[in-house]
Amino acid sequence: MPPSTEVTATLSATLTVAELLAACEQSRADGRHLEGAAEAEQVLATADITAAEQGRARELLSLHRLRLGEVEAAVQNGLLALEYLTRSGELLRRSQMHCTLALAFHETGLHEPALRHVLGALSSSRASGSPLAEFWALSRSSMVHVGTGDSPRALELGRQALDLSRLLDDDEARFAGLNNLGDTCLEFARTQATLGLEATDALGEALENVQQAAALAHSQGHTFWETIARTNLGSILIELGRYAEAREQIGLSQSLATANGYRNLELDNGTQLAEITRFEGHVDEAIRMMVALLADRSVEEDPARLTRLHRGLVEMCKEIGEFERALDHAEKLHELTLRLTRQTAGLQSRMLINTLEIEHARHETERSQLEAQVLRIRAEKLDQQAHTDPLTLLPNRRALDRQLPALMRRAHDRAQPLCAAMVDLDHFKRVNDAHGHAAGDRVLAAMGTILTAAIRDSDLAVRLGGEEFLLVFGDATPADAAKACERLLVAVSGFPWDDVAPGLTCTVSIGLAVRNTGERTAHWLARADKALYAAKRAGRNRVESAPQ
Ligand code: GH3
Ligand code: MG
Ligand code: MG
Repeated sequence: MPPSTEVTATLSATLTVAELLAACEQSRADGRHLEGAAEAEQVLATADITAAEQGRARELLSLHRLRLGEVEAAVQNGLLALEYLTRSGELLRRSQMHCTLALAFHETGLHEPALRHVLGALSSSRASGSPLAEFWALSRSSMVHVGTGDSPRALELGRQALDLSRLLDDDEARFAGLNNLGDTCLEFARTQATLGLEATDALGEALENVQQAAALAHSQGHTFWETIARTNLGSILIELGRYAEAREQIGLSQSLATANGYRNLELDNGTQLAEITRFEGHVDEAIRMMVALLADRSVEEDPARLTRLHRGLVEMCKEIGEFERALDHAEKLHELTLRLTRQTAGLQSRMLINTLEIEHARHETERSQLEAQVLRIRAEKLDQQAHTDPLTLLPNRRALDRQLPALMRRAHDRAQPLCAAMVDLDHFKRVNDAHGHAAGDRVLAAMGTILTAAIRDSDLAVRLGGEEFLLVFGDATPADAAKACERLLVAVSGFPWDDVAPGLTCTVSIGLAVRNTGERTAHWLARADKALYAAKRAGRNRVESAPQ
């Protein structure tokens, strides 16, 4: 018996999230699913866990819930874990999650989502480059195709999985490859039989593979696998009509199941023995055996087994002419089918609704993220517009107010003086007068280009207004700044102004001022302005430096 969840809760009260997750992982490896589920739930109930921890906890919880037969919770947690794994791009775990989800949907008879998940498992396992992950994806894929009734495709996938498992040094994969293919062959043979077709080859293949599976499990001392394999051997041998050998395998399985407490397998073996007894012609005895099984408490909660037993009993009671008893079992069978259909339909619709809700939530998140992005871009654009002069595309005075403090701080940190150059076009009024206001605008736009090309990333060039510009040199000595200003004079006078308007020439005058320690901005820039006027008075097209 697995220890109670209560014990786990008290034991893990002092564990960290990482330790709880490790314990949860171990519980999975040991098959202690009740404990594992409690550990995962505890992680999820912890405040402030990371998205990665939450993803991992949901992933493990999904597996534990599936093993406990709680398909709905398995799917819900699995889908949420998958959302996380898709975002984080963890292909291997994503492939495993798809496998678990495929299994959960398959068990509920929801073939379409099961197929979608095996396809997801196949593509992420291949992308992850893990042959083991690909094996499981192929193996689950085979199983899902049995569910959809496509037995030939299921066989093909099962054989591919088995081939791949031979290349892997993994006992579980080897066992599963053999046993699952055997199972698929048996299913295929049964389908053929209902169509009145011969399926000896498929049964032969089933027998061979499951025999190997049983031998492997036996040599590994893995009693649970061996019990499963021998039970399956029993079913194949029954199908082949080899009842004595079937009894032998079922007997071996039954003693292992009894000794190890595999109650479900033990009941399977009981049902198999009753079926053999029936096929051997001892119908009365077979009926007694099945009725005895029906009385078992654990059978009551197992609708699949109940169905199998009642169906067998209906047929056998009819065979021996006990019609009243046959009717009795037929009614039970009918009730059971109704109940099962109702339950399954409810479960299926809840699972589909869960899937849709999770997808809807994802779309909502994506939509609001996009919306936030659009708003941010729009705000950035507006801000940009408010700080840019539309004619020259240079930053404007507002941008200067915003950026100057940072430039001043940097200069202070580097113990470097900050230099500012006031730049003004010479006789610009004459440009407008001689060439028109539009040509004047083109001159200003060209100045934007010239200034942008002249400065470095650490500098700032702004249009203060009219035909007046300010340069702030972010990382330059006063000598560097003076040289840059001289270069600017050349760049302006040498610009092909003729292209802007025939016969046009333009020059600028520049006033340069080095900021004194602690000097107020207005005072510093007024000195640059004064130097500019000195340059104008001195004949224009020149640089004047302000006295300190
Ligand atoms: P100085 O060499 O002394 O600076 O002479 P100036 O003619 O350049 O100076 P002034 O301040 O007398 O004239 C500036 C002219 O610039 C007047 C104004 O019409 C023109 N101006 C200001 N803003 C614009 C504009 O956006 N586009 C155009 N085309 N002209 C402008
Ligand atoms: Mg001017
Ligand atoms: Mg001016």
